Amino acid sequence: MLFVVLVKQVPDTTEVEVDEETGTIIREGVPSVLNAFDEFALNEAIDLKERMDEDVEIIAVSMGPPQAKDALKKCLAIGADSAILLTDRVFAGADTWATAVTLGRAVKKIGDVDVVFAGQEASDGNTAQVGPEVAAQLGISQLTFVADIEKVDKESGHIICKKETDEGHVRIKAELPAVIACMPEPGFEPKIPNVRDIMKAKKKSLDEWTFEDLGGDEEEYGLDGSESVVIRTYSPPPKGEGIKIEEKPEIAAEKIIEFMEEEGLL
Ligand SMILES: Cc1cc2nc3c(=O)[nH]c(=O)nc-3n(C[C@H](O)[C@H](O)[C@H](O)COP(=O)(O)OP(=O)(O)OC[C@H]3O[C@@H](n4cnc5c(N)ncnc54)[C@H](O)[C@@H]3O)c2cc1C
Repeated sequence: MLFVVLVKQVPDTTEVEVDEETGTIIREGVPSVLNAFDEFALNEAIDLKERMDEDVEIIAVSMGPPQAKDALKKCLAIGADSAILLTDRVFAGADTWATAVTLGRAVKKIGDVDVVFAGQEASDGNTAQVGPEVAAQLGISQLTFVADIEKVDKESGHIICKKETDEGHVRIKAELPAVIACMPEPGFEPKIPNVRDIMKAKKKSLDEWTFEDLGGDEEEYGLDGSESVVIRTYSPPPKGEGIKIEEKPEIAAEKIIEFMEEEGLL
């Protein structure tokens, strides 16, 4: 079986800054890390591999600048078997669709992939669009908000997952191949690679693929292939200090009602 895990290198901050002129994320001078949800997705792929009787290969794939190799090296140390970095100036400035086109082409080129693991969302872009768009590119099943994978059965051609919903969880079955967008539940503890894992990772293959490897027209990728245009980026105005009510619940409730009446909210 073949699993691909899509991983993104993201700025190590929750305060993402955007260039006001170009509308693109400022990455210079900001330390980068592996997106936390993608680390969870990789952990899920490895757990599943360890539970399965058959051979499973895990390939980590990222689209990004050359420094995104660091995120892939971490994936190799955690337990991916090999990694591919999709890097080319042609891929630069991609919106979510152009990102999905690039990742989808790479998955097609790898071939015979059973499950594509993605994070539910990246901590910088936060759109949660890339996983589903990759599924659309490939014309295969998609499952979002996946908290756990029960099993992948190649014989019956199905995957069964636990998916989070507003009401709780549902157990859901989909046809293989599938893209699953994973979301960790509270208390998730990532695998921490030790020195031996890091040394072992140095012997694993980390390839670089460019536009030439993926083929197609240059206009389908990067800024040219992006349908969306950033018109304006701005931070929301800071919230006021608010009102703190430190009373017993029944008095507090009365005060809240009073306040809402005064504000015309009731
Ligand atoms: C309108 C628009 C214009 C943009 N223009 C630019 C721009 O000019 N320059 C720029 O740098 N950024 C730009 N971005 C941001 C860029 O599109 C996103 O960083 C990228 O498309 C991924 O989207 P996201 O971060 O929302 O990922 P999400 O959809 O939140 O990510 C979900 C999952 O998809 C996978 N994934 C996402 N991105 C990658 C990746 N690169 N490699 C591997 N797996 C991945 C991961 O598993 C991730 O957890 C733009 C975004 C928008 C919405």
